[in-house]
Amino acid sequence: MTLAVILDMDGLLLDTEPISLRVWKHAAQRLGYELDDEVCERMIGVGQADNKVMLLGHFGNQFPVDELIALAQASYREVLDAGGVPHKPGLLDFVRFLDERGIPRAVATSTATELAKHKLHQARVLHHFDIVVGGEQVSRGKPEPDIFLEAAARLGYPPEDCVVLEDSGPGVRAAVAAGMRPILIPDGREPSADVREAAHAVVESLSAARVVIERMMNGGGPWLGSSVTCSPSPAMTPRTKDGLRTKAKGPGTMS
Ligand SMILES: [Mg+2]
Repeated sequence: MTLAVILDMDGLLLDTEPISLRVWKHAAQRLGYELDDEVCERMIGVGQADNKVMLLGHFGNQFPVDELIALAQASYREVLDAGGVPHKPGLLDFVRFLDERGIPRAVATSTATELAKHKLHQARVLHHFDIVVGGEQVSRGKPEPDIFLEAAARLGYPPEDCVVLEDSGPGVRAAVAAGMRPILIPDGREPSADVREAAHAVVESLSAARVVIERMMNGGGPWLGSSVTCSPSPAMTPRTKDGLRTKAKGPGTMS
């Protein structure tokens, strides 16, 4: 079957989340506030407008949220421009796989389009992605489905033929709300049980996601592959040779 792939960017293609957490925390410190890990965790995978609401709710209406964002964005750009943008492992191999199989792809990210393209350019991979849908192109951010639906429309694929690669809970929820199949590649954080349950597959790397997509293209669900041991508990799940940890689902869910 023919599939299109829609990819998140930060924490999925690019190893930018550690940079972003560092600059957010540092910018807050300069303004006399502390962003603890719990607040930072809630900022991942959602757009700036939703982050503003969350921060004002957390710190109160006097919180200088616009100043924080301006400071953080300035230092973020400095870091990116100085050191380049690190890839997540296996990115170039994954893109090569998409090319070889002729799989259309789009990036759908909460980051504003211009900054997203800048990051992809700095990472030397922008030319692999003709379609980049940034957060400001839709009215509602993840976990609402808008950005993925927009990406699917631009690709010319119906939602049910779109596979979404995501590292965050809001992204997985957005993909499910869009009627798409999300593959979750957690970015160093253990996903919550409901996000793990909502995901079509949970794998640990882009190369493992590639195996899942191959199987989907061959008409099989990832959980039906003979080399995959299924278990809902990651701690209990033996790793297969290709690094897959997929969920137990009945054959009735096979598409
Ligand atoms: Mg992400």
